Amino acid sequence: MPTLTAKKSKRPPVRASGRAAPALIFGDLWEFDPAPETADPKLKARYELFIDGQFVAPASGNYFDTVNPATEQKIAEMALGGAADVDAAYRAADKAQKTVWGKLPGRERAKYLYRIARLLQDRAREFAIAETMDNGKPIKETRDFDVPMAAAHFFYHAGWADKLEYIAPGRRVAPLGVVGQVIPWNFPLLMMAWKIAPAIAMGNCVVIKPATNTPLNAIKLAEIFQDAGLPPGVVNVITGPGSTGGLIMAHPTAAKIAFTGSTEVGKVILRSVAGSDKKMTMELGGKAANIVFDDAPLDQAVEGIVNGIFFNQGQVCCAGSRLLVQESVAERVVAKLKNRLRALRVGNPLDKNTDVGAIVSRGQLDSIRSYLDIGVKEGAELWQPPCRLPAKGFYMPPTIFTGVSQSHRIAREEIFGPVLAIIPFRTVEEAIEKANNTPYGLSAGVWTDKGSRILKMSTELKAGVVWANTFNQFDPTSPFGGYKESGFGREGGRQGLLDYCKLV
Ligand code: NAP
Ligand code: MG
Repeated sequence: MPTLTAKKSKRPPVRASGRAAPALIFGDLWEFDPAPETADPKLKARYELFIDGQFVAPASGNYFDTVNPATEQKIAEMALGGAADVDAAYRAADKAQKTVWGKLPGRERAKYLYRIARLLQDRAREFAIAETMDNGKPIKETRDFDVPMAAAHFFYHAGWADKLEYIAPGRRVAPLGVVGQVIPWNFPLLMMAWKIAPAIAMGNCVVIKPATNTPLNAIKLAEIFQDAGLPPGVVNVITGPGSTGGLIMAHPTAAKIAFTGSTEVGKVILRSVAGSDKKMTMELGGKAANIVFDDAPLDQAVEGIVNGIFFNQGQVCCAGSRLLVQESVAERVVAKLKNRLRALRVGNPLDKNTDVGAIVSRGQLDSIRSYLDIGVKEGAELWQPPCRLPAKGFYMPPTIFTGVSQSHRIAREEIFGPVLAIIPFRTVEEAIEKANNTPYGLSAGVWTDKGSRILKMSTELKAGVVWANTFNQFDPTSPFGGYKESGFGREGGRQGLLDYCKLV
């Protein structure tokens, strides 16, 4: 995810001060032409479901609009899939898995995944623009992170497809069958790749539903599946509401379900499949602590704090939404942070200079705003840099709260927006106690000069991922997942593949 310096950027943005502005985004996957984003994303007026290798109208004949949150304008009509469509998708997936995909040697399956990855690279700019339009995240994020990382997941899992015996030495590895998957709106394309690539590399077939807010690139990715010649039924994409997601999760044909979304919906799904023998992966919410010790390189830490909570407008499950800062440097860190936030550009997500784009929907914006009221009523102090927001669209300036105590709701609940709660601490033990004092356990960050302290913290913190002197770094080789109410199971790496197979 975002790095602190754009290593390969040909022309780093230069500020009035003459100093190059540090890039907020992930800049090292590949270089990109710095021209303004005016390319045509080749959008259609209407998108259908993708079942059995074909684009088909939903049985109900109903459609819903997907909207650009930066302009509030309709982008396209999307098919509203229901029970009959979900059944058809599972039938297609089951047939494909039993007759074609499950029988192909891994080296043959790999060729399709490589092809999908390359086609996605070929159409990278188009997908980046479509993602930014549908979700509201800045183009420099979709261009330099979401799209290349999605391609990287297909490349990585293509590499595994003919080496699967090495994920569990001494055991025979077999696919599970058909997998049902439901994903959220914060990384629409990347979550498709996270879910689909390991599942099909392993020989499973898929029925997947994207979020209502961001269905566009999910169905555009199906165009790539078709162009790659992926056998019909291997991946089926059903756009539609949460209730359709419920049908996908509970379907009797699903041997495994994989869900990424809120803890609340995760619990509903778990109740609906309780007692079944489905294998499950749950990637749920988070309230990560980003912990800054007094010996940390403070300027670097400030970049990590900004990246941790303002990347993707803070709509990130592993966002560093709680800053734990050692008391002796707290004042300096907050002053530096405020200074840095004054330099962030909030606005049109298609502008390549934008750092903070639009919030995904009016509902999400209202929810974030309600937390600002809650924080103020609880007695915390709110600060936002002065910034002029566009008249239309769903925007929220970067926001920090000081004077936060652990009992405050803004310190306990996932806000899922660009809002940082700052909490001081004195000792290492206090930092650990405060960081772990949450029902969640997805990620954490530690900023310190001491290697021994990094080792201690990463052992003691109850989080699936602990970053040291960095934050929001992702790689397909590295497993990702949570503890406690952040879920179970892992995605990425060898561990992620183990969650998509049976060992015989
Ligand atoms: P959400 O409301 O839980 O929705 C996630 C997905 O579930 C959407 O596709 C949604 O469809 C669908 N859904 C809603 N109700 C359902 C039901 N009863 N049965 C089955 N599916 C249902 O979450 P969100 O607001 O989209 O995303 C934000 C949440 O995701 C945050 O809590 C965040 O922490 C979490 N997240 C976690 C990870 C991780 O890896 N741990 C990664 C990203 C996000 P509709 O969109 O149509 O309602
Ligand atoms: Mg949208």
